[in-house]
Amino acid sequence: MKIKRVVLASRPGNDREPVEENFRLEELTLSEELTEGQVLARTLFLSVDPYLRCRMNEDTGTDYIGPWKISEVLDSGGIGVVEESRTSQFTAGDFITSFNWPWQTKCILNGDSLQKLDPSLVDGHISNYLGAVGLTGLTALIGIKEKGHVIPGANQTMVVSGAAGACGSLAGQIGRILGCSNIVGICGTEQKCKLLVSDLGFDSAVNYKEYGLDEKLRACCPNGVDVYFDNVGGEISDKVIHQMNQNSHIILCGQISQYNKDVSYPPPLHAETAAILKQRNITRERFLVLTYADQHNSAIVQLSQWIKTGKLKVKETTVHGLENTAGAFLSMMAGGNIGKQIVQVSE
Ligand code: NDP
Repeated sequence: MKIKRVVLASRPGNDREPVEENFRLEELTLSEELTEGQVLARTLFLSVDPYLRCRMNEDTGTDYIGPWKISEVLDSGGIGVVEESRTSQFTAGDFITSFNWPWQTKCILNGDSLQKLDPSLVDGHISNYLGAVGLTGLTALIGIKEKGHVIPGANQTMVVSGAAGACGSLAGQIGRILGCSNIVGICGTEQKCKLLVSDLGFDSAVNYKEYGLDEKLRACCPNGVDVYFDNVGGEISDKVIHQMNQNSHIILCGQISQYNKDVSYPPPLHAETAAILKQRNITRERFLVLTYADQHNSAIVQLSQWIKTGKLKVKETTVHGLENTAGAFLSMMAGGNIGKQIVQVSE
């Protein structure tokens, strides 16, 4: 059977923006012979995520995720449908997912590496398992619960950077559900700012690409910032941290503004920012959603209920075709997405 796949053609270098030429689309023949325990699956959806940027480097700088190899097929979170099965775990027609789904139109996978998905939990919106009821939603919910110290009724102000993205668009809404009274988003376009306020219930939103982030933030946060959901790091975070209150909390979710730089994770803070953290007793602990596997199932049920009851709105940006997967990744890294960036590989 002829299939298509995407491989890593070259590395961008630790301190450069990735480009299309780093990826290559190939056609090859896939043997259809399954051995015991395997399934043949057709890829439906792929997830493109900021953490994949470190997999383009020779050394990812982390111990929980390895680098992609040159000329080998790439992988990320994905969803497919079983076409043939030689394991009792799955039958043809089952929806299945893996954190390491190959960027391939069809693939042979070991049943042990897969989880079966329940379409009823997402009202048939299977791609939500890569976003709002997948790792992204889990990151927003568990991140806020574990590191946000949200106290219902305490009139807390939450600021979210990367607010119109996959994690950020959910984090602001979840902050509200869990009890924050003032939700402020920071993102990169006017269109995104408008959507956060008019559609997702943020109280206000600021475009960081325009002049005056400090003043605009101060106007949106007259009582200072109590909880900061940080997706971006760098200068934006320095400005938010300057406005944080005594004993406030940072959810250190990600630092995307630094991912094309040759720095360790989390990147070192400016001395002045580090001093503020100390003086004001601001917590900023590293957060990694994969560490909280014991909470994943219950959090998925919670997220699904909020979505079904309309409390949590889900945004996705979808591109079609495996050949556009690399482009979708590059676009997401440059802010081309609203909500979760998804690649639909087949119907
Ligand atoms: P998003 O959907 O938020 O996409 C990335 C967004 O980042 C873009 O849309 C863009 O929006 C913004 N961005 C890109 N470059 C910059 C920059 N230089 N400065 C400010 N904003 C920038 O991605 P995710 O929701 O998947 O991930 C968000 C963050 O969460 C990432 O840092 C990621 O690493 C982290 N993460 C952490 C996890 C954990 O366990 N801790 C798990 C999952 C994700 P804009 O138009 O606003 O610039």
